[in-house]
Amino acid sequence: MSKLIASAAIRGAHTLVKQAEELLEKTTAEKGKDFTFEFPDTAFYLPMIYAMTAFPVKTLGDMKVALGLAKELLHDEPEEHLWKPYLGEALDSGMATLFAEELLLALKYINGLEPAKDPETGYIYNGFITDTIQRNLGIQLVDGTMPGFAAIIGAAPSDDVAVSIVRELQEKNILTFLSGNVNGNSVTKQLLRKGVELGWDTRIVPLGPDTEHTLYALDWAIRASLIFGGKKPGDYKEHLKYQKDRVFAFAVVLGELNDIIWTTGAGAINMGFPAIADTDVPVIHPTGVCIYEEVDKELDHGKIVQRAIEQRGLKITVEKPPIPVAYGPAFEGERIRKEDMFIEFGGQRTPSFEWVRTKELNEIEDNKVIIVGDGWQEKYEKGGQMPLAIVIDTAGRKMQKDFESIIERKIHHNINEAQGLWHMGQRDLNWIRISSNAKKEGITLEHIGVVMATMTHHRFKSIVDKVQVTIYTDEKDVLAIQEEARKAYKERDQRLGSLTDEAVDIFYSCLLCQSFAPSHVCVISPERLGLCGAYNWLDGKAAYEIDPTGGNQPIPKGALMDAKYGRYTGIDEYLKKASAGAVETLNLYTIMENPMTSCGCFECIIAIIPEANGVMIVQRGHTGMTPAGMKFSTLAGSVGGGTQNPGFMGIGRNFIVSKKFLHGDGGIKRIVWMTKNLKEGLKDEFSKRAAEEGVPDLLDKIADETVAEDSEKLLEFLTQAGHPALSMDPML
Ligand code: SF4
Ligand code: ZN
Repeated sequence: MSKLIASAAIRGAHTLVKQAEELLEKTTAEKGKDFTFEFPDTAFYLPMIYAMTAFPVKTLGDMKVALGLAKELLHDEPEEHLWKPYLGEALDSGMATLFAEELLLALKYINGLEPAKDPETGYIYNGFITDTIQRNLGIQLVDGTMPGFAAIIGAAPSDDVAVSIVRELQEKNILTFLSGNVNGNSVTKQLLRKGVELGWDTRIVPLGPDTEHTLYALDWAIRASLIFGGKKPGDYKEHLKYQKDRVFAFAVVLGELNDIIWTTGAGAINMGFPAIADTDVPVIHPTGVCIYEEVDKELDHGKIVQRAIEQRGLKITVEKPPIPVAYGPAFEGERIRKEDMFIEFGGQRTPSFEWVRTKELNEIEDNKVIIVGDGWQEKYEKGGQMPLAIVIDTAGRKMQKDFESIIERKIHHNINEAQGLWHMGQRDLNWIRISSNAKKEGITLEHIGVVMATMTHHRFKSIVDKVQVTIYTDEKDVLAIQEEARKAYKERDQRLGSLTDEAVDIFYSCLLCQSFAPSHVCVISPERLGLCGAYNWLDGKAAYEIDPTGGNQPIPKGALMDAKYGRYTGIDEYLKKASAGAVETLNLYTIMENPMTSCGCFECIIAIIPEANGVMIVQRGHTGMTPAGMKFSTLAGSVGGGTQNPGFMGIGRNFIVSKKFLHGDGGIKRIVWMTKNLKEGLKDEFSKRAAEEGVPDLLDKIADETVAEDSEKLLEFLTQAGHPALSMDPML
């Protein structure tokens, strides 16, 4: 390693440790050493320090201990005349820096200085990244829709260059964190000046104005090995290896480097994250720590993103339909307000629907877009509102009627991923907007058809051989064909309702999360969807047809060994292999004995409340206390990582209203507490299920956070309400 870099990394670490120490002393003098602190919504204390050392920092007193750990990693600057390999010292210093930065930021939170606010614009940075956000993004990380993460530090030479770099990252679906500044200027400010929409929805997340704020991104990364990887706190070697092998992060440093950037970079190199700079820096090319180069330079801003991607070893293939606007999942979160809108369809304003049909191969012409309607061009050019039917005809040797709904569900993404196009709802309740900007860029009605054809082919390669799209714009046509579509929707729903675990011989596995949680397998049956909520049995079936060697494999369920608990010979056999021995046997319908494992991206957690002889359910994102005595974040910490934990389980939200929900434990009558959000969201289906179970008013007997957040109050409420769980067989 270059002596210049090593010296800078070591100096920077000393500076930051000193800063942290000063702020710690000041804060402790004011608040006392027992003052407690936690970052917002995390179960992992100060995550970097916790993952590396297993030391849970809870108080200012603990911070002093942690600072001691950072100091142990400090080294002296290499002397002028000495030659020695500096890599170890520089990397140690980098780790000391990450500890010091984490302490500094925690202390700033205590002092009300975080999340930082920009004094000029009033813009509030993201600050610490919560566990909830991490879990929300879980599936996108594993299914490849989000292939990597970039941390951009500093400022681009011009606002336009900043925009073009970030757009390129967006188009490659890379999540981008922004931090640092060059003489007060930063990419965040450059994008704000250019009116670029920032935030999680657009995958550009400004963390804070200083280099130190980059730590929030690293804190986020390190929680992946805690949450999904099941790596034990303190097992630093395992954590660092996991980061290098599975977390595809890299840094792009824009503008001059200083000691703080070098030392933070040294910290990131520990985790296997390389950096690329746009200035003439000394490069480091030893392999081993990172996959390829550790520090590199690329002076051409048009090439810097591509170089960074190669440097981290990412393989990115992006399918973009031939349309005149940018395209990719990063544009999905974009809103189109009324003022920015050129034209809209549906949304209860005009008749509108979308429908996927199956046709014979000879009935349709591939990639053809037909627009039907008198003078539709003029009507479109006027803007405002317009009726719209999108009918997608598909044909293919492997196409099945069961796949129509799956292809149809992607219409939402197909449209939303185009910059300046917006979609909401589904079927005959859809709503589409085209922005004035997109219109200016040349978007026409035909492009909607083009997007559908391209993306349907792309997403369903081996199912669909031909796609033809017809767009109707006359109200009478739209209304007439809508009737046919409604009949088809109804038939589909009936078919779906008749799909039971007993009615099929094959279940599907989902192994997608194994890239993060190596021993986790979701077993997906018609009556139990994957715990992330994104994959049901039909999805599994379609995914297997699309990619027979992919993440969804058929599991012949075999012989039924236990009807009450849902145990099958075929599933046990499959799991032994697929979970690398972690799961010997699985019961699909109970939480008490060999329940399903959890990776980390569950929509909800069920936990037993022994005092109430029942279970509680809390969804991701709920930050309040629960009667289990733990918040979601803490509960989640003990459920994930791919192990079976009797009494605790992650589930997909819709499983709650399945007939197989805890079937072996007494079904939905076991639910004694559920958040208001879940109660309201599932109301209709839940009431139907409750009636089937003979307790039509069950929902009213179930407590929520407004009546109880501890088990004592919960019991009071249940007794008063006469909840059925109180008189059921004991769970334990
Ligand atoms: Fe992960 Fe299970 Fe969802 Fe598949 S279904 S993505 S394994 S949580
Ligand atoms: Zn998962």
